[in-house]
Amino acid sequence: MKLPKLRELKEAVKALIAGPYTSKFPKELHKPHPNFRGQPKYNQDRCVGCLACVEVCPVGALDYKDSKGTNPKRTLIHYTDTCIFCSQCESACIADHEGIKLSNDWELSFFDREKESFETIEKELQLCEICGEVIACRDHLKWISEKLGELTYSNPTLYLSRLKALGIADENIVSALKDQGRSDRVKILCARCRRETTLTTK
Ligand code: SF4
Ligand code: SF4
Repeated sequence: MKLPKLRELKEAVKALIAGPYTSKFPKELHKPHPNFRGQPKYNQDRCVGCLACVEVCPVGALDYKDSKGTNPKRTLIHYTDTCIFCSQCESACIADHEGIKLSNDWELSFFDREKESFETIEKELQLCEICGEVIACRDHLKWISEKLGELTYSNPTLYLSRLKALGIADENIVSALKDQGRSDRVKILCARCRRETTLTTK
């Protein structure tokens, strides 16, 4: 009979005293190591919807959809079955790396891949008041204006967004009149409409 080596014997005695290294999953929920790199999770309150994370994801595990209906919104999507937990999204996040963060969630199994292999959050969108095109998420405009400080007041789109967020100005209304004249300059506008209203002679 082959005798066990001393190291194996020591491990066996240790396991007898301290219990096995393996967890009793699924009988008991597995607790991962604190440094475990699990699924990234969006933080609805901290994310500003800037899409930096979508740009840097190396495997296309992040995506977004904009809808411009009566309640314009951006849906950010994380495909949990594609993610490789590289943390590039967290590193690139402009919201102090808090908009999306790796968690210790390791549970990846699901029954229906079509319906369960992704997680989403929604952010309010700001549309151009002349052409109705997407400018950015409202939280992103707020984030920019906070970074700019008093310089915000040199840009009507930013200061009007700020006033609307504070409830001082009316909510976003897409203009019925598309004259793109100088009277339109004090509106929330996309870059193209801002340029056209600035250059117009009306
Ligand atoms: S952890 Fe990496 S792969 Fe997963 S969503 Fe973030 S950037 Fe993409
Ligand atoms: S704030 Fe962070 S998590 Fe949100 S879209 Fe931008 S980079 Fe992604």
